[in-house]
Amino acid sequence: MIIDSHCHLDFPQYDNDRDVVIRTAHDTGVGIIINVASSLASSFKSTELANSYNNIYASCGIHPHDAAAVADEDLDKIKDLATSNKKVVAIGEVGLDFYKTFSPRDVQEDTFIKFVNLASDLKLPLIIHCREADYKSRDAARAIIRILKENIGKDLHGVMHCFSGTKEVLAECLDLGLYISYTCNVTFKKADILREALKETPIDRLLLETDAPFLAPQAKRGQRNEPAYLTYLVETISQVTGVDREEIEKVTTANAKNLFQL
Ligand SMILES: [Zn+2]
Ligand SMILES: [Zn+2]
Repeated sequence: MIIDSHCHLDFPQYDNDRDVVIRTAHDTGVGIIINVASSLASSFKSTELANSYNNIYASCGIHPHDAAAVADEDLDKIKDLATSNKKVVAIGEVGLDFYKTFSPRDVQEDTFIKFVNLASDLKLPLIIHCREADYKSRDAARAIIRILKENIGKDLHGVMHCFSGTKEVLAECLDLGLYISYTCNVTFKKADILREALKETPIDRLLLETDAPFLAPQAKRGQRNEPAYLTYLVETISQVTGVDREEIEKVTTANAKNLFQL
């Protein structure tokens, strides 16, 4: 049994066959799915999905793309959702996106800090999105690490989702006690740098995710991704790290259960 710790099954890409996708995932061995919200509306949809399926849990939050539009009432609504639904197990995805910069950087930082405080209040882990302006830049990662360090007394837990940082960023994230999650982009032909970081990631900090509908694995490139394709990621991680598939499945499942208190 493996856990897809990050996907977006509430997105319209699944409107025609959501139930089939969820059943196929289950039949393929993806026993638990964390559906991660990207907006306030998506937080409600994720919670509804989690309440409709035994094996789905929800994370509530607002993507940094929309950081500029986040009002305090939105945070209150997310707090209400999380406190009134047992299946809300995380706050996210939240963080910084300096690639598209749909919201100004300082606004993104302010909003991220609010979500950090909310996660701390609710004693829930953070699912952190971190995307740089370009390959060489480390501004987003540095800002996230700085904000987490400034709040270190708040006993924060979380995962750096879709990890794409350098070995130095990886070391800092590990120092902060964060889990590191890789998506199916590790399977891409040109992802050597990512695979180098993967080799440096201790297996007891590793989580699996698809980030579906995005980032379908190499074998399904160009198609809609779905949780069942997580098996391709496990295969690649096994090849890169030299660790047996069964061991990767067992340890990453235990890691996700530990972080999300499943
Ligand atoms: Zn993301
Ligand atoms: Zn995502």
